[in-house]
Amino acid sequence: MNSKKIGFNTICTHIGEIKDEQFKGAVSPIYLSTSYAFEDVDIKRYPRYFNTPNQEALCKKIAKLEKGESSLIFGSGMAAISTTLFAFLQQGDHIILQRTLYGGTANLVNEEFKKHGIEYSYIEKQTLEGFEEKIKPNTKVIYIETPSNPLLTVTDIKAVAALAKKNDITSMIDNTFASPVNQNPIELGIDIVLHSATKYLGGHSDILAGAVIATEKNIDRIFQVAKNFGGSLSDFTVWMLERSIKTLGLRVKRQNKNALKLAKWLYKHEDISAVYYPGLKSHPDHELAKKQMKGYGGMLSFELREGLDASTFQKELQLIKSSMSLAGVESTILSPTLTSHALLSEEERHLQGIKNGLLRFSVGIEEKEDLMHDIQQALNKIKILELEH
Ligand SMILES: *Cc1c(COP(=O)(O)O)cnc(C)c1O
Repeated sequence: MNSKKIGFNTICTHIGEIKDEQFKGAVSPIYLSTSYAFEDVDIKRYPRYFNTPNQEALCKKIAKLEKGESSLIFGSGMAAISTTLFAFLQQGDHIILQRTLYGGTANLVNEEFKKHGIEYSYIEKQTLEGFEEKIKPNTKVIYIETPSNPLLTVTDIKAVAALAKKNDITSMIDNTFASPVNQNPIELGIDIVLHSATKYLGGHSDILAGAVIATEKNIDRIFQVAKNFGGSLSDFTVWMLERSIKTLGLRVKRQNKNALKLAKWLYKHEDISAVYYPGLKSHPDHELAKKQMKGYGGMLSFELREGLDASTFQKELQLIKSSMSLAGVESTILSPTLTSHALLSEEERHLQGIKNGLLRFSVGIEEKEDLMHDIQQALNKIKILELEH
């Protein structure tokens, strides 16, 4: 099999599988050993060295999916993100970040970087000039996240990657929301791709994991820090993740389809005042999304019209669960103000355009009619409450 030419779902299913030579089982065996006899003096296998058989095999699959040379997997998305950032930043260095970031990443920067003497700037305008005007002689990293959480803003990946390259800066992207199904930033010139594998790669709300994909040289640099920080993944979870990724293409394509249908329906709905989804023509970044994405993803956000209470609406939903995480096969919803972005100040939320009544919707693989029906019945109930007031 010429592995250069094989398609996405074949990579998902087969790349990196471990042959069960002993019993000819259908799936990769799990190797739970923490201790391995030396093959030669140089190869020491140990889970915290990121080189157990299952870790190495899964990394091949993940690297291939993101069209990168190599990858590492971690015990959480934040372990991947923090280890990677600390591998490229030291005292006196400067990093430029998008303002609209995953809350945990923003907390990492705001709470830890000062202690380590690392300078950081958030861009105010999410444009190329916005990034360019923040570059300083000591800028070492530009970090983006697109589509972003929770308003699904889109950053021009190719332009930012080129700007970074021109200035000898390492470019990093959190590609969690898009997943490798919808966006491959390495093809657009990005140096380092990060994932919370807890989300689409895992896809079943039962795995906490993270991944980083880059050139062999950059992965080795990250590994040198990773073995010290010790954020490796248990081999049982590695095995679960391998199993989960087999259906990544199928799941995400279905989620793309459901989300686009729901976004269009919500956009026309009289009780919904705003919908944020990059697949809608009304989205300010739609043209850019169309250029750099293969599908628009399963995440969308919306606001109920004036007079309707978002918290009560959430409670009245029967099928769609209120839950913190996202990207599972089941649909979930949350209020960013009350959960994912609760640690930010009102002003910081305002700067990101997050209104108190905003709801973030992670669209699952259910039948779209059932999801619409659930939203409609919840709206009907809160409209009765509105009339009673
Ligand atoms: C969840 C998430 C993370 C953090 O991942 P964990 O697995 O929870 O550590 C990072 N970035 C994005 C976009 C996420 O959604």
